[in-house]
Amino acid sequence: QLQRVKDQVAFVTGAGSGIGRAAAIRLAQEGAKVCLADLKENRADEVKKQIEAAGGQAIVVDIDVSDPKRMSDGIRQTFEQWNRLDIVFANAGINGTWTPIETMTEEDWDNTLTTNLKGTFLAVKFAIPHMKQNGGSIIITSSINGSRKFSSFGASAYSASKAGQVAFAKMAALELARYKIRVNVICPGAIETNIGENTKKTPELKQIQIPVQYPQGSQPLEHKAGKPEQVADLVLFLASGESSHISGTEIVVDGAESLL
Ligand code: NAD
Repeated sequence: QLQRVKDQVAFVTGAGSGIGRAAAIRLAQEGAKVCLADLKENRADEVKKQIEAAGGQAIVVDIDVSDPKRMSDGIRQTFEQWNRLDIVFANAGINGTWTPIETMTEEDWDNTLTTNLKGTFLAVKFAIPHMKQNGGSIIITSSINGSRKFSSFGASAYSASKAGQVAFAKMAALELARYKIRVNVICPGAIETNIGENTKKTPELKQIQIPVQYPQGSQPLEHKAGKPEQVADLVLFLASGESSHISGTEIVVDGAESLL
């Protein structure tokens, strides 16, 4: 079997569920040793078991991506385990609270921005010292909600955090080129994961939902949600040498959803 990231070491945030889980499993299948970083250690433990049952190697670290100490400890632990760090998938994120702006509390705003945007910054910041000798690949999970689709009403904090990740990734790509670290950002459309579980939608949300008008007799345009494994294939490509000249790019993985 082709091992596209053989003997490389990957640090994956949000690895206990959804896109992070699928990417961790895919990277391990292709020969990477993977650190599964997540809040909920139980779910990451199951991913670890699955990787090991297939003959791969994984460790679990219990982190909160918005906590600098836990982030730096988790990344250091990964480096100490295998003596290198090649791939960082800064993926953990939350939908947070979806509500009209005038009813968005500062606490809800901060919670979304801190997890999604500051969490990404911290992963990159603490990975650099361990990656700069040999170079590597950093992949950041944004969303089409941060780059080209703004019809998720009430998601102002989420969209702002996701747009911030895109700009941050592009700055990082330029800045880290001197260390041969590539940085790319992926923008998934709707993917079947557990992200809906902790989305808070307020009753006020219906005040701003604009009914979509379709020409008489036509069908509403529909899109199909993707599978986490379909995003994982893109992550593997961006992590591997097959994308060696790709950096600073934003790649949409949405089955054309954002064109509707
Ligand atoms: P998910 O809820 O299935 O998985 C997210 C994981 O991140 C969970 O295991 C959760 O415990 C972890 N996490 C959340 N906050 C954390 C924190 N503070 N510290 C550490 N871990 C934390 O959701 P998913 O859909 O796989 O989400 C992954 C990424 O994909 C997110 O950044 C999300 O914004 C993005 N995304 C998802 C979709 C979608 O439709 N599912 C679309 C576009 C972008």
